[in-house]
Amino acid sequence: MGRLQKILIPFLGLVLAFWFYSARDTFKPEMLRGKRVIVTGASTGIGEQMAYHLARMGAHVLLTARTEARLQNVVQRCLQLGAASARFVSGSMEDTAFAQHVVREAQTSLGGLDMLILNHVGASYFGFFDGDVEHIRKLLEINFLSYVAMTTSALPMLKESEGSIVVVSSMAGKVGFPFTAPYSATKFALDGFFSSLRQEFTIQSINVSITLCILGFIDTERAVRAAAEVLRERPAPRDECALEILKGAALRRRELYYRYSSTRLPLLLRDCAAELLDYLVRSRYRLPAAPGA
Ligand code: NAP
Repeated sequence: MGRLQKILIPFLGLVLAFWFYSARDTFKPEMLRGKRVIVTGASTGIGEQMAYHLARMGAHVLLTARTEARLQNVVQRCLQLGAASARFVSGSMEDTAFAQHVVREAQTSLGGLDMLILNHVGASYFGFFDGDVEHIRKLLEINFLSYVAMTTSALPMLKESEGSIVVVSSMAGKVGFPFTAPYSATKFALDGFFSSLRQEFTIQSINVSITLCILGFIDTERAVRAAAEVLRERPAPRDECALEILKGAALRRRELYYRYSSTRLPLLLRDCAAELLDYLVRSRYRLPAAPGA
């Protein structure tokens, strides 16, 4: 009997935990109908796909990136797909004033904001760290400071709507990856800032959710061009990735992992076998032979 209890109680605990977590997983597209959403980096890649999903769900979308011609096309397609409204503001996130301007546009044209999706990413190189400190400063402005500036400006509207902030990050923002030191630095910074902010929201009873998205390799043009030759794994589809981000955001998850098997599972090793995790990360690359080898 004693042995049975020892097995039965943890088993029941596991069943209850599974039931609790799966019961929460009830995303419905209607959750985003009529919501007022900013998507940054929406001219291509995952941001573009998020815009299309939001449009199909009947959201109001305000899109931003630098390339006006591409944004015009994305807006047109969003309207065809059923967006409640679709508009864009073009400009560079290197300029904090522009980041704040985008948020003001939401206030003026949408009368408020329910979801701020921070997704844009500046260009960087894929290779050994080249010592260029100015590049890191510039990348921090685009990939980190503009995220902070937009959040700060949007917070009054998000508090009013009890809305959501979505921060698109990467496995390279949770564990050291070779060849992406500047990029990785900016993604780790996002985790530090937004995880800290989430704590403060809880302390102050601010009902604004923060979802940090930890993505693996996704089949966007930029990523495939940069890494397909050297990474051994196949990239995951960007439209599915975009949908998973929106589900996580609508369900107010604190973190979202996509794909789970190539992100969350390896990260379980971080605290107990960090060197094994480092080794597994390196083994994903086709590394050039060491000189003299
Ligand atoms: P992407 O296709 O290169 O798109 C990046 C977007 O950011 C574009 O819309 C680009 O548009 C915009 N952008 C670039 N520089 C900008 C600037 N200075 N100011 C304003 N906008 C700028 O990227 P993605 O692969 O979809 O990645 C989206 C997010 O997922 C990023 O945060 C990335 O770190 C993350 N992620 C991606 C992968 C992957 O394998 N794809 C993996 C992990 C994490 P313009 O050029 O028109 O400005």
